[in-house]
This record gives sequence, structure tokens and C-alpha cells, in this order.
Amino acid sequence: MNIEKHIEAIIKAIDPDAHDLQQTPARVSDAFGELYSGYKHNLKDTVSVLYNSEMDEMVMLKNIPFESNCEHHLMPMIGEVSIGYLPCGKIIGLSKLARIVDCYAHRMQLQERFTMEVAHCVNSIIEPQGVAVYVRAEHFCLTHRGVKKTGTSCVTKYFLGKIKQNPELRREFLAEINAT
Ligand SMILES: [Zn+2]
Repeated sequence: MNIEKHIEAIIKAIDPDAHDLQQTPARVSDAFGELYSGYKHNLKDTVSVLYNSEMDEMVMLKNIPFESNCEHHLMPMIGEVSIGYLPCGKIIGLSKLARIVDCYAHRMQLQERFTMEVAHCVNSIIEPQGVAVYVRAEHFCLTHRGVKKTGTSCVTKYFLGKIKQNPELRREFLAEINAT
């Protein structure tokens, strides 16, 4: 990512007399490389190992912490994701669900799109009967600038397949993560 010289220009625009910041553009560039590393992954290769299972009740991984950056302000959004799926003969290693979250979080994001991307990815890899994703996050662009509403969090949910069609299953998922 060639962003070093652009960061240097931003620093000069903020403070033309800035001292002792010679290393900052390189450091910020490195940090950006890490924060936005989610474009490189091919999830189909890294998380495609599935196991046969007769499990036909919902499997959930709750409160997976994530850190991302909003695409409107490039400011942090920090929160948790909960994922549930109703297997259809196959289950996935739980760490793989966390890996999916990390991959999409390490992009410039909108929480709404992030929620749907995680759900569609889980759906396409596991091919379950249904998927549920719940995201709660604090957006620094809301809490640390502008209207400065400290303590607010944004909640988004997305359902696919049987969990979308069946209110009972949705309730089961939301009750389990105390989101009802
Ligand atoms: Zn924002």
C-alpha cells in the first residue's frame, strides 16, 4: 500500500511546522496495512474445512470481539459479533467463524454491510439451513466527534434461510445472546 507520502501531506496540512514526525508516515502506513489487510484473504481457501455432523440444532459463537473502521470517517468501530447457524450435515471449526469476522472487519466498513457479509460468507461456506448474525458496536465517529454521544451503540441483525423464515428460531438466537 503506497500511502506514506499521502500521510506526510496530511501531517503537513494539519501542522506545517510539525517536528519529530519523520517516522510517522511509515508507521501509519504499516498500521493501515494491518487494519485493512482483509482485502487479501481468500476465505474459501482458509476456512473451507468442514466436518460431517448429525447436529441439527443451532450452533452459536457469541460475543466475538472485533475492531473495524467506518468507511465514512476512517474512525474505529469496536464491538462484538454473535453468529448462529443451523447445520445441514456439516459443521465448521469455531475459530473459523472468528476468522471470517476478522477478515471482513479488516476492511473499510459499514456496520450494516459487515453484518450481511459475515452472514453470506458463513452461508456460502457451510451451506447450513439458516444463519443468524448480530452485531453491536460503538462508532468513534459518533461518540468522539460530531454529536459526541458517548455510550451509544449501533445494533444490526441479519438472518438467512430457515432462521429468517422462522420467528421461533430468531427468538432462540436473540434470547441466547440476551438481545431480545
Ligand atoms: Zn463514521
